[in-house]
Amino acid sequence: MAASNSEKGLIVSFGEMLIDFVPTESGVSLAEAPGFLKAPGGAPANVAIAVSRLGGRSAFVGKLGDDEFGHMLAGILRENGVADQGINFDTGARTALAFVTLRADGDREFMFYRNPSADMLLRPDELDLDLIRSAKVFHYGSISLIVEPCRSAHLKAMEVAKEAGAILSYDPNLREPLWPSNEEAKTQIMSIWDKAEIIKVSDVELEFLTGSNKIDDETAMSLWHPNLKLLLVTLGEKGCRYYAKTFRGSVDPFHVKAVDTTGAGDSFVGALLNKIAEDQSILEDEERLRKVLRFANACGAITTTKKGAIPALPTDAEVHSFLEGK
Ligand code: ADP
Repeated sequence: MAASNSEKGLIVSFGEMLIDFVPTESGVSLAEAPGFLKAPGGAPANVAIAVSRLGGRSAFVGKLGDDEFGHMLAGILRENGVADQGINFDTGARTALAFVTLRADGDREFMFYRNPSADMLLRPDELDLDLIRSAKVFHYGSISLIVEPCRSAHLKAMEVAKEAGAILSYDPNLREPLWPSNEEAKTQIMSIWDKAEIIKVSDVELEFLTGSNKIDDETAMSLWHPNLKLLLVTLGEKGCRYYAKTFRGSVDPFHVKAVDTTGAGDSFVGALLNKIAEDQSILEDEERLRKVLRFANACGAITTTKKGAIPALPTDAEVHSFLEGK
């Protein structure tokens, strides 16, 4: 029997939420774009919304500017059923902006406005520790590791969640232009590697972190660590691969007409964490895990069929009707 909403484990997603400005025309450079549409984004916020849209419980922890965009974003989280008590507002800095080009092939390039932005200024003493302690799953990325004081807030939140018994989930979400150098990005992303029990990387991140251009089991397993319960490598339109303590394999993708891949990975992660918060034992049961990953692949695929991340995140009913048609 499915758990009722109040019994479901809480997923606390930590990190940045920002506004993506997306050209009204795709396939053009930022300079050529005639106009931009604002789209709420930030991987950890997308994951929190992905979870609640699927019927799970989630909260977002981070900092926004005390400005119109910041309050708009907090409103979007609330409207989507994400608990907001972990959100702080900074009166001195703006909500982060990212201008994102949608290339003709649907892939993305970024230009950020963070000089600094409010998310970078979250301090350890601003964290809602009770909220973090109540998490069944604590999820984060690596953008919050780039500068202080947010980096210390991230490390503290992770430590408090772990002490309270949460499962730690890490999706580095590499954004090279935000780091001072690629070397620094790699060092800092890896500095918290062995804390997480669930890690998801994309094929691009696997290459970046290992320095190998071979997307194979040996390369993926070079990222394995003893505390890890599940390592996932998402492969875009090729589906995903999974590595657990006693089994490994791949789950086929769904073929869809992708128009914008933004948020596919977050949708995938949200779906997976939602199931893990319900029943952690799937991490040790390959057959059930494969079903969950099939569901997560469906979520990722559906998300690519609409423009924007948040508007494209599916509900549980949408995923089931998509799967019934397969
Ligand atoms: P990220 O957004 O983190 O780079 P991916 O692009 O690998 O992550 O997407 C995550 C998952 O979403 C994939 O494992 C796959 O199941 C699904 N997905 C992504 N892009 C497509 C696509 N073009 N067609 C079908 N499924 C896709």
